[in-house]
Amino acid sequence: MIALEETVDLPKMEPMSHGRTDLRKRKPKQLAVINVNCTGCSGSPVCVAYCPVEACMFWIPDEDNPPFGRIEVDKSTCIGCAKCTSKGPDGTFLDGCPWDAIEMVSIEEWEGERGVDLPAVPNRPVSAWTSVPREYV
Ligand code: SF4
Ligand code: SF4
Repeated sequence: MIALEETVDLPKMEPMSHGRTDLRKRKPKQLAVINVNCTGCSGSPVCVAYCPVEACMFWIPDEDNPPFGRIEVDKSTCIGCAKCTSKGPDGTFLDGCPWDAIEMVSIEEWEGERGVDLPAVPNRPVSAWTSVPREYV
């Protein structure tokens, strides 16, 4: 089981995506959502290298079962580009997660299910992107 404190922001750990900090200009139509199929790729996640956004995808350790863990996505910085998934339009197969562990989900659906209103553009300075409010994950 992955231990998560409920009261503080979730720290982002490496492996983490590294890239641009200026890509999200408005709310994307879709978001990357990691599902239960994510194994963490034994600590070498394939997906992270494809994400063009700084600190958008990040590692969460399974504190009960080191060195295992999984990847998560900061929904306040994700631009919905789908570069992290292997599922392309019309059934095409792209680079990205080969394990069917990333789904592209409509932002309205994600917000509605959780009662969260995501910021249109990141509402924290880049210097604060090393952690993320839990409601944005
Ligand atoms: S989302 Fe896919 S590629 Fe990324 S760590 Fe999980 S299983 Fe590996
Ligand atoms: S959809 Fe794009 S921005 Fe969002 S996690 Fe995947 S690669 Fe990163």
